[in-house]
Amino acid sequence: MVKIRGLRKSFGPLEVLKGIDLDVHQGEHVVLFGPSGSGKSTVLRSINLLEPPDHGSVCVDGVEYGPGVAGAASVKRGRPMALRRKVGMVFQQFNLFPHLTALDNVALPLRSVKGMRSEPAMQRAAEYLRRVGLLERAGHYPGQLSGGQQQRVAIARALSLDPKVMLFDEPTSALDPELVGEVLRVMHELADEGMTMVVVTHELGFAREIGDLNVFMDQGVVVEQGSSELFDNPRNARTQDFIRAVR
Ligand code: ADP
Ligand code: MG
Repeated sequence: MVKIRGLRKSFGPLEVLKGIDLDVHQGEHVVLFGPSGSGKSTVLRSINLLEPPDHGSVCVDGVEYGPGVAGAASVKRGRPMALRRKVGMVFQQFNLFPHLTALDNVALPLRSVKGMRSEPAMQRAAEYLRRVGLLERAGHYPGQLSGGQQQRVAIARALSLDPKVMLFDEPTSALDPELVGEVLRVMHELADEGMTMVVVTHELGFAREIGDLNVFMDQGVVVEQGSSELFDNPRNARTQDFIRAVR
């Protein structure tokens, strides 16, 4: 579903990704973890082309993008919009429109991105709010919802667009501790339903439950990856230090 090859990305003089390879198969749940600044968000943002690759390629469900591994003159093989429609993204900050109700926050992109008419968009939005357990809050504005509820609205909004893969960038990091569980529960259900997911998280307990492949990044490279076994027996000293520090 996602194939990344030789991905490099710099911001000015700072090389943030130094050659990343990553495969995410259909229905697979991949966890990215590692210290702040290691390039995790940049990997996610490369998958939906918020950051175009300097070098290497990103392929999502057969749509490829980027200059290629050889670094030849930039040939953009896929249209970014075609790729972006296949990818749903949930951010640390929920990015809801404060002046729209929960229902309208979900319905708006159904109209603007999917081109749905108002009435079916509302119906579909309600269906997805029900899925995240928030149908009864449909008429509430973001300011009237808890952080956990807002994040569930953001998840419903991304899901309603019917993505092939869902990206989560530290979806619980901005939440009070008592609200983390309800968001992880929704994500867990989604994983159980077979959604293809790439999740950046420091919740290593959750990672252990859903992560088919767990990828430790540091300083722009994949240091080590593996099954949940990785959390018990990390081989690399940097992975060991990080896991010990997060626990
Ligand atoms: P992580 O998500 O692992 O914390 P990021 O991918 O956000 O790491 O960032 C990796 C590095 O790239 C950091 O040093 C960050 O400051 C830098 N960076 C990220 N985005 C930009 C940008 N748009 N402009 C300049 N520097 C950036
Ligand atoms: Mg980040």
